[in-house]
Amino acid sequence: MPRAWHLMSRPQGTPAADNFALKDIDLAPLADGQIRVRNHWLSVDPYMRGRMNDVKSYVPAFQLGEPMEGGAIGEVVDSKAEGFAPGDLVQHMAGWRDEAVLPARAVNKLPQLGVPPELFLGVLGVTGATAYFGLLDVAHAKEGDIVFVSAAAGAVGSVVVQIAKARGMTVIGSAGGAEKCNFVRSLGADQVVDYKAGPILKSLAGVAPEGIDVYFDNVGGDHLDAAMALARNNARFAICGMIEGYNATTPMSFRFIQRIIAARISLRGFIVLDYMPRMAEFHAEMGSWIASGAVKSRETVVEGLENMPAAFLGLFKGENIGKMLVRL
Ligand code: NDP
Repeated sequence: MPRAWHLMSRPQGTPAADNFALKDIDLAPLADGQIRVRNHWLSVDPYMRGRMNDVKSYVPAFQLGEPMEGGAIGEVVDSKAEGFAPGDLVQHMAGWRDEAVLPARAVNKLPQLGVPPELFLGVLGVTGATAYFGLLDVAHAKEGDIVFVSAAAGAVGSVVVQIAKARGMTVIGSAGGAEKCNFVRSLGADQVVDYKAGPILKSLAGVAPEGIDVYFDNVGGDHLDAAMALARNNARFAICGMIEGYNATTPMSFRFIQRIIAARISLRGFIVLDYMPRMAEFHAEMGSWIASGAVKSRETVVEGLENMPAAFLGLFKGENIGKMLVRL
């Protein structure tokens, strides 16, 4: 019997295991134009935390008592849709479950590039596109810039580090703990700070005596404050995520916010979905970086559908290096 994780209650603060329940689901027989997919890989993403809240946003909230969803890669096991046959690998949004019946228009067939399919949830997917467009289009980062990126050992952050190096920038990454800092260094970062070892402002000032031109924000809070404190004139900030605030019950506060004026900082939030029409451009350049070895993929793989909530909660405890995935 196919199963899916359902949202059973909405968390206040940090989610817990009892917010979720794994339940059997009925899959209707295939109608014309539909395919049945068995999932192999589930994407695990911080933005899913926002969907657990009952608020209007750029993606709809998960509904209480209903199956959750998210990015996934699976194999077609039955098809009544033209152009799809058993064995085809497809990407879709029916994650958090092992099987799904979907209209063919809701899935994308994976191109046969000879790369592991899970890369399409990571460096070759939305994760990589977030790094690429956030850094190059939102922050207009260019050769010679000093770029600071937070959560630099994570899925998006680790790709930002590598793209910035491939484009001739100086890169400072922050991450929690020695193992992650070593990983960020191995990606080519010029400087790495362990934000758990001391206040981020002091550590960043120590490695960026000339300040920073670009900040790629995955964290918000003290990281964003430190970046504002150390921004050079006309610095550009790509505000990608603020994971420090996702489970917080008190608002963030900023000591250095007025530097936005004096340093003429441009801060721009973005949602990667707006860049979907430009994915071909991203695939072409990212494909060549992967082929040349300039960008490498790293994943943290958690086994089994049963462990999907644990993998998700692990994001907020820093349990992943690179992209967090569940393999079924
Ligand atoms: P990551 O792989 O970076 O995983 C999350 C990481 O965040 C953890 O490993 C941990 O690393 C760090 N972290 C967790 N809690 C805190 C905290 N309280 N303070 C500081 N760091 C923390 O996730 P993604 O790469 O998938 O996403 C990165 C960010 O980008 C998120 O904020 C996400 O919401 C955002 N995002 C935005 C998109 C957009 O369109 N705007 C699209 C995709 C992602 P460590 O151990 O180093 O603390």
